[in-house]
Amino acid sequence: MGQNIIQYDEVDSTNQLAKEQAENNAKEGTVVIAEKQVAAKGRVGRKFSSPKGGIWLSCILRPDLKPVLATRATYLSSLALAKTIAELTNLDPKIKWPNDVLLNGAKVSGILTEMGAELDQINYLIVGLGINANIDKKNLPVEVQDRATTLYHELGQKIDRIKFVQYLLKFIEESYRQINDFNALLEEWKKYAYTIGKKVVVSSARNKISGIAIDIAEDGALILEVDGQEKKVYSGDVSLRHQ
Ligand code: ATP
Repeated sequence: MGQNIIQYDEVDSTNQLAKEQAENNAKEGTVVIAEKQVAAKGRVGRKFSSPKGGIWLSCILRPDLKPVLATRATYLSSLALAKTIAELTNLDPKIKWPNDVLLNGAKVSGILTEMGAELDQINYLIVGLGINANIDKKNLPVEVQDRATTLYHELGQKIDRIKFVQYLLKFIEESYRQINDFNALLEEWKKYAYTIGKKVVVSSARNKISGIAIDIAEDGALILEVDGQEKKVYSGDVSLRHQ
């Protein structure tokens, strides 16, 4: 991972550039990284603020997997990020299903996995990670400040971003080697899971489901216990139910 790093000062979105690289046959492990993104997106087209001081990168992966298993990349990247934070700081990262890494309950990163597939085979996966690293919280949009945080805000000092990226890529590579053995990856992921065992509400554009988050299925779905029955949820926003 990262043998080929393409570095920019300012880009629209590292995911977009990585996608173009992937479509031009860039090798697996290619990483696109920028100091600043001006049009980065989160899930379902949401905006992701990416000012200077953060770590904004996208990796190209080419797993031998069926497209339905692409969500595994979200697990491996959130796990790698949580491990990096745990290894390099004294903070206690938690992962909120499916894609948020939290510090003290606030979101420190955004993760967006995108896919290119042909027939029934993944051609490439773009794993985009945005980390609020050396950013003053007041430089994030006002509307996210109450639920977002930055490493700088939590630690009271700047981190070494190069070292952070080195560890992050190392952990992504380690987890990527386990992509065909999802259970092993999940076991490790669950050590950081914030959602499992809690009463939650999962909202999507179509509906809201309340239940107890009991586990993650082999296909990446969140398993909820709803009125004594197990239900699988594949996407949506999780909030904790305080009752
Ligand atoms: P949520 O954060 O509500 O769980 P999500 O996981 O779908 O949503 P992402 O795709 O990770 O969201 O990112 C988009 C959302 O993240 C935006 O709607 C905004 O609320 C929030 N956001 C935008 N920029 C940042 C940032 N730099 N740090 C933390 N949160 C941000």
